[in-house]
Amino acid sequence: MAGNITFTMIKPDAVKNGHIGAILAKINEAGFRIVAMKLTKLSPQKAGEFYAVHKERPFYGELVEFMSSGSIVAAILEKENAVEDFRTLIGATNPKEAAPGTIRALYATSIGENAVHGSDSDENAKIEGSFHFAVTEQF
Ligand code: GDP
Repeated sequence: MAGNITFTMIKPDAVKNGHIGAILAKINEAGFRIVAMKLTKLSPQKAGEFYAVHKERPFYGELVEFMSSGSIVAAILEKENAVEDFRTLIGATNPKEAAPGTIRALYATSIGENAVHGSDSDENAKIEGSFHFAVTEQF
């Protein structure tokens, strides 16, 4: 059965470009409830840990550098079928391939600087949420 929690980050490109409000509005309109949220910044070490699963990929260094280059908004979101519905809302990894109206189609600039993160499984949603938030910060 699909879980009801996903984890997202508004990435440094979208924060720098002033898209926090617009992206949160899309998330709200799509029916997600905010369980936890904060403006924060990842150190290179923390970004490396978060994306450790991509360590062998050729873009790992670039990804870690980008994700630690500026502030992010981290959030846990709740909705029925949260992981899949959020991936639909954000669109394909490469904004050129993202469906019209999706967050990445609207606000991403490139495959690397693609505006938002969305968990790819229920299991990872739990791991990623607890990477950023203590239980006492989740409501
Ligand atoms: P996602 O699940 O759609 O975020 O995509 P992946 O799990 O495949 O990749 C994780 C993140 O790595 C993406 O969101 C991008 O920020 C970054 N990324 C993926 N592919 C590339 C690439 O070819 N080049 C660069 N620079 N970054 C990439």
